[in-house]
Amino acid sequence: MPLLVMKFGGTSVADLSRIENAAKKVQQEVERGYDVIVIVSAMSGKTNEMVGWVESTSKLYDAREYDAVVSSGENVTAGLMALRLQEMGVPARSWQGWQVPINTTSVHGSARFIDIPRANIEAKFAEGFKVAVVAGFQGVSAEGRITTLGRGGSDTTAVAFAAAFGAERCDIYTDVDGVYTTDPRICRKARKMEKIAFEEMLELASLGAKVLQTRSVELAMRYKVRLRVLSSFEDTDETSGTLVCDEDEIMESKVVSGVAYSRDEAKMTLLKVEDRPGVAAAIFGSLADAGVNVDMIVQNISEQDDPSDKRAHTDMTFSLPTNQVDRAKQAIDEATAAGKFVYSSLVTDTDVAKVSVVGIGMRSQVGVAAKMFAALAAENVNIKVITTSEIKISVLIDRKYMELAVQALHDTFELDQA
Ligand code: ADP
Ligand code: ASP
Ligand code: MG
Repeated sequence: MPLLVMKFGGTSVADLSRIENAAKKVQQEVERGYDVIVIVSAMSGKTNEMVGWVESTSKLYDAREYDAVVSSGENVTAGLMALRLQEMGVPARSWQGWQVPINTTSVHGSARFIDIPRANIEAKFAEGFKVAVVAGFQGVSAEGRITTLGRGGSDTTAVAFAAAFGAERCDIYTDVDGVYTTDPRICRKARKMEKIAFEEMLELASLGAKVLQTRSVELAMRYKVRLRVLSSFEDTDETSGTLVCDEDEIMESKVVSGVAYSRDEAKMTLLKVEDRPGVAAAIFGSLADAGVNVDMIVQNISEQDDPSDKRAHTDMTFSLPTNQVDRAKQAIDEATAAGKFVYSSLVTDTDVAKVSVVGIGMRSQVGVAAKMFAALAAENVNIKVITTSEIKISVLIDRKYMELAVQALHDTFELDQA
């Protein structure tokens, strides 16, 4: 039997009628002759609510218990989806991660797949079941504890199943009808793309476009999964949505193909760190050990307030997610108490956002950065930190200018035009 993976995100299973709507899409594919693995998210808002409960109960919580709590939303929707399909006459069975089993590492909160044995699900298909409804976002560690894959992880569950079962396609049903040049919710000129290259999607996702979890794109690229993003609220067929595919499947390619943003960024600066070999390793090693995801890093020479002081000093600035600021402060306190490095003061700014432009065409084009900075200057937006790679340029700016910056860049690079 040909097999499809269909994933439904939180808004697509937000209540019983939406679950029914999603189930009808599954039924259609079964009627077309497919066996289907359905991956479901929790009902929208549920995971956030549970994360809030955990954080209110314990500030520096035990990640094993975090996973025990926040993985539960998917169990509910998996069971309900299987029941709805049964009511429609489609033989379906639900699966929690440990039942498959979806074997992952023990890194609670951001576990990675080790393997997904096919035997149990295949045995059910052989019995005549047409649909396996699998709870997304979760797995099980070698210790037998429930793990989760990081926020948005159901996308990655879907791609991993498509790869493991050799699915014809992996369809990601969501609340927008494809991947856009930027988030259509903050830029009304955003344009839906027919196709996008894996590499561009990977950058957009990792820079904040939450339509696909970054890891899902990585897996799809590695295992050559045909990955599609489409709407669960519209009638769709094989041509709907956006196909994420190899670069050479795409005819037109612009220099910049998308703009991404990440709202919840913070910036920390350690002033007057003693400038000697090993100091960056000490700072960022301590942060990494505490599980802080440092992103942009800038090192510059400290202002010399005492000219007689001949020792060299440096200022170290880095960005991180806002909700990791406390963790970072604690790591820095512990590292300085242990004598790993010294600094004079710490400046924290939790009101920043990151805006990035992405495009594989940048590889062969000069002047993209200059054009980006000029567009931001024209709107009077001050740039705090800049980082670049071969196919992206990111800037850190005040959060209040984030939407303005996204719109200005979308206009400057004429992304509304195909
Ligand atoms: P789901 O619950 O289905 O997983 P998500 O909320 O995780 O859905 O992702 C879909 C959302 O991603 C859209 O509603 C949209 O606001 C946002 N988004 C951000 N950037 C983009 C983009 N470039 N194209 C499409 N959607 C985007
Ligand atoms: N429910 C999880 C989350 O909100 C996983 C997902 O929806 O992909 O992050
Ligand atoms: Mg999502």
